Amino acid sequence: MAFARDDNKVLVRTRRCRSALNRTGIPGGDYCVNPYLGCTHNCLYCYASFMLKYSGINEPWGSFVEAKINLPDVLKRQARKPGTVLLGTVCDPYQPAEREFQLSRQVLSILGERGYNVEVMTKSDLVLRDIDLLSRFPGFSVELTITTLDAKISRAFEPGAPLPERRLIALKELNRAGVETTVFIGPLLPGISDSCRQIEELLLAVKAAGGQRVLFDRLNYLKQKFIRLKPVIEKEFPATIPAWNQALTAPDQYSAALRSRIQEALADSGLKGRIIF
Ligand code: SF4
Repeated sequence: MAFARDDNKVLVRTRRCRSALNRTGIPGGDYCVNPYLGCTHNCLYCYASFMLKYSGINEPWGSFVEAKINLPDVLKRQARKPGTVLLGTVCDPYQPAEREFQLSRQVLSILGERGYNVEVMTKSDLVLRDIDLLSRFPGFSVELTITTLDAKISRAFEPGAPLPERRLIALKELNRAGVETTVFIGPLLPGISDSCRQIEELLLAVKAAGGQRVLFDRLNYLKQKFIRLKPVIEKEFPATIPAWNQALTAPDQYSAALRSRIQEALADSGLKGRIIF
């Protein structure tokens, strides 16, 4: 049922779900929980937009969110066999709608009381609202995505998500509270956010915020994603077109060169890190 458009003119609706806790094949997790369908962070490179195909929704990805209002009740029935839960594998669990619905907060509370480990996957500093729960349960951790330090790049490609500066503040606060954190750095965009200098500066900022672990990823499905990104690249970052053409015509070479830049920066940073491509 549609009931509101929020300040960013996105459509917010509620829906009911039949299952809350689902098995996942993602490394490091036994189960996943996704309290929202749709994500108004609206990242242009989002891999989750494939959900549109299966949900029968016709609105553009990023323009709507559906909150699964009965998810906490369903979760209470299903959560009987503790393991590690990844919260937000498909859609961000701390996107703006969470301010009102508080579904992710309820998920943390239910799973914490029942002895589950939870890794929250988010781009949002709204996660700080639940720092009391995150620091209460020892098996809880946060994987915070920070793709760039540059606000212009972030605004262009992640228009609905909090700016990098706010994510760094969140990282700092979480670390200060003793919550285990990992920074997910990806996807790095060819010619836009993947230079040695940008990677080094990002690692320095993570370190200054008390971060200890990072994960790196490239932009996957390069050709398909380029089609969606192209208008923004041509308008706002035209000088990077040759770098995109190189990456598109020789993706293996591009990946190898990116990997070696990351390895070098990681070694200098002293942070623990992993490259997942
Ligand atoms: S925050 Fe994640 S799920 Fe949401 S639009 Fe961005 S990439 Fe997609």
